[in-house]
Amino acid sequence: MKAIVVGAGIAGLVVARQLGLAGWDVVVLEKSDGPRPDGYMMDFFGPGVEAAEAIGLYPRLAAAAYRVEAAEYADVDGHPTARLDYAKFSRLAGGKVLTLMRPDMEHAALAALDDVPPGRVRVRYGTRVSRTWTNDDGGHVWVSGPENTVLDGDVLIGADGIHSEVRAGVFGPESAYLRPLGMRAAAFVVTDAGLNERFRNRFVLTDSIGRTAGIYGLRADEVAAFLVYRDGPLPDAGIRTTQERLSREFSDLGTHMDRLLELCPEHPYDDVVAQIVMPSWHKGQAVLVGDACGAVSLLAGQGGSLAVAGATLLGQVLGPVDSPQGIAPALEAFEQRWRPVVATAQASGRRAASTFLPANRTQRFVRRAVIRATRVPGIDRLVARQVLRTVAK
Ligand SMILES: Cc1cc2nc3c(=O)[nH]c(=O)nc-3n(C[C@H](O)[C@H](O)[C@H](O)COP(=O)(O)OP(=O)(O)OC[C@H]3O[C@@H](n4cnc5c(N)ncnc54)[C@H](O)[C@@H]3O)c2cc1C
Repeated sequence: MKAIVVGAGIAGLVVARQLGLAGWDVVVLEKSDGPRPDGYMMDFFGPGVEAAEAIGLYPRLAAAAYRVEAAEYADVDGHPTARLDYAKFSRLAGGKVLTLMRPDMEHAALAALDDVPPGRVRVRYGTRVSRTWTNDDGGHVWVSGPENTVLDGDVLIGADGIHSEVRAGVFGPESAYLRPLGMRAAAFVVTDAGLNERFRNRFVLTDSIGRTAGIYGLRADEVAAFLVYRDGPLPDAGIRTTQERLSREFSDLGTHMDRLLELCPEHPYDDVVAQIVMPSWHKGQAVLVGDACGAVSLLAGQGGSLAVAGATLLGQVLGPVDSPQGIAPALEAFEQRWRPVVATAQASGRRAASTFLPANRTQRFVRRAVIRATRVPGIDRLVARQVLRTVAK
């Protein structure tokens, strides 16, 4: 059996490995020229942990994880407004929370392809899929560029993220499925010894109104940041780059923030914060997995975790299939089992959206009060999200 996987993100790499281990021939097509270096810090917990343990990926992920000693909201002068002993929280969560950079997560999944017999899984970087379709004799993709060729497989797996082209080709335009949550998120990594010293092993969130920046100190003088702000028209017609826009949106948040924005690349990752909601995830010989069919948004804090768990499940149900006739029932079984989990996470993300960016001082006051009131000694993103969701209900 042969699978075409579009996208070498965490979902695509995991499902490719699992199918390769089950004896399938798999080709993974990825438009980037190599593993994507850009990224942000992610918390990895929940269903993905269980799946990663089951398929033997967890030790590789754990090896790439960062130690987070403290998590806090801070005011413009850098003074904490709420604090957490992160290690303690991790223990409360059963010790199964990893904090790691998105590229490190993908590297771990890529390295895990070594477990598959040679030649079974081929990852072709620099290969952009521009047309996809499916009919009774399988899934097909059109690889444009110098190749200009059609590739065929028994199944076509769209693991190509929130702006999936497989989805557009097989299920219809993005506008039918993308639900914006009224925000944008940018993310980038800078190198600066001073900032690193301030944020090393700490996760700091700005305790600001209408915008929130999360900052971590990494290894080797690097600092990772994600910036979430309200979506809307550009604040100034003269703005040319994302860096300029972020500098405008995140002005007056203190000297560390100013320095971070000074070092921000001109065009960092910057995208709408949204979910993907679809009535069906499979059609004919094609299926979607990860953000492509069920993006939950960073507000749910579980997209990567669900990508790993969903891809593992898809590999599990498709793996034993040995004829084209067996594919449709397997895809149906995957969707039946996985849809309720994604729907629950999406509902959490939507609830968090209403409180993630307080609109005024009163809302910020409520957030602070709620955080201080938690019996867990301090806050962390997980606790904060849970608490804020409860408040928003
Ligand atoms: C700022 C931020 C913070 C986040 N924090 C967390 C967190 O704390 N915890 C968590 O679990 N999740 C978090 N997430 C969500 C998580 O990153 C995503 O849900 C997860 O990466 C989705 O994985 P994926 O493999 O489905 O898609 P992606 O990672 O988007 O991978 C899709 C791949 O497909 C490729 N591709 C796209 N189109 C084509 C094409 N036409 N041809 C070939 N290749 C193509 C892309 O280049 C990419 O490599 C966060 C997201 C953001 C933006």
